[in-house]
Amino acid sequence: MSTGQPRQTYKKTDVRELAVFGGIPLFTAPLHVGRPNIPNRKNLIARFNDMLDRRWLTNNGAYTVDFERQVALIAGTKHCVAVSNATIGLQLLVRALGWKGEVIVPSFTFVASAHALLWEGVTPMFADIGEQGYCIDPESVEALVTPRTTGILPVHLFGELCDFDALDAIARRHNLTVVYDAAHALGCTHRQRPIGGYGSAAVFSFHATKFLNSFEGGAIVTDRDDIAEQLRLMRNFGFSAEDTVESLGINAKMSEVSAAMGLTSIEEMDQFIAINRAHYNQYRSELNALPGLTLAPRPEKDRRNFQYVVLDVDPSVAGISRDDLHLLLNAEGVHVRRYFYPGCHRVEPYRSMFPNAPERLARTETAAARLLCLPTGSGISSPEISRLCELFRFIFANVESIDASLHQAKAGVARR
Ligand SMILES: *Cc1c(COP(=O)(O)O)cnc(C)c1O
Repeated sequence: MSTGQPRQTYKKTDVRELAVFGGIPLFTAPLHVGRPNIPNRKNLIARFNDMLDRRWLTNNGAYTVDFERQVALIAGTKHCVAVSNATIGLQLLVRALGWKGEVIVPSFTFVASAHALLWEGVTPMFADIGEQGYCIDPESVEALVTPRTTGILPVHLFGELCDFDALDAIARRHNLTVVYDAAHALGCTHRQRPIGGYGSAAVFSFHATKFLNSFEGGAIVTDRDDIAEQLRLMRNFGFSAEDTVESLGINAKMSEVSAAMGLTSIEEMDQFIAINRAHYNQYRSELNALPGLTLAPRPEKDRRNFQYVVLDVDPSVAGISRDDLHLLLNAEGVHVRRYFYPGCHRVEPYRSMFPNAPERLARTETAAARLLCLPTGSGISSPEISRLCELFRFIFANVESIDASLHQAKAGVARR
């Protein structure tokens, strides 16, 4: 499933050949994280043609209705409401659930989780992540509950799943509603069952960089009839029938072209997972022996989509920091990403709202300083991953001299 073009290749034998020191980049065609998974073109274009022939481009078209049915099946829920993106899906839920005051959310997430709340006038209260993995820590959540708290917005970060039972217990103790930001978690299961039914609702993203994409898109899944009904009104200006507006609404509709992409992608979901899983296993076996590097584990019994290959770099063991690795790899044409650096609490407007947050969010701070996401997906091949891992091994065989040269280079830049 790779793009097929050779991206060769200059095997490094000397530290001075690293691109960061002026050598030729290992990959002339860069490797990316989140390169879109493209499904079968013939099927996709057949759907486009059919859509054009029928002249039905949006507003509850046949593809959108079918897409909703398929996503509800994957999520294991009664309802699915497709929307134009996950962020507006979260915003609609803030209104549908009547969230006000404060909602507890992890800081270690993509900024949209927090923005969706604040955009709707709700203050995001940032909780830390747990000791294991990268999802929200239930204890940290409970410590943030105040009389103003109305909800919890946990995130299944990197497709790892939150502690449903503990969060549910906290929500019941304090009479709060829970919505899961499941932007990364399409196709995942918990105790061998789909994850859509937990909390009041969950929201998937079908943005181009996500596991499955509809160019742009999102979906809200829920078992609750009342929430689904409200969301359907809200996403279409409050229209319940021709010339009948029942309530305040907005335009959050998914278009048919997006639904066509989403449906075609769902047909290939199992292949995308198989490719991602093979890439993950390859990284695991090829990087295994390098000191200070740990790949986030994935469960055997439950399904994951493996869309994020998350590497923890322990600088005291590795002898090199995550940021130096990021610098070196980028120079070689490997666009690894520091997700989700620096954490929501360190970007505006939250940094100004919560200047003391770093003291409370120790694990978030550590994760934000140590994680690196590696290229995966159907846009990268196994030989490319081999070459990348070989580069890792070269770097680790020469960490001391690389570290010294990097310091010299940085000092030189500083002097200029
Ligand atoms: C991508 C993402 C979103 C936003 O999704 P869009 O469809 O781009 O609006 C929300 N939360 C998380 C965790 C994400 O990664």
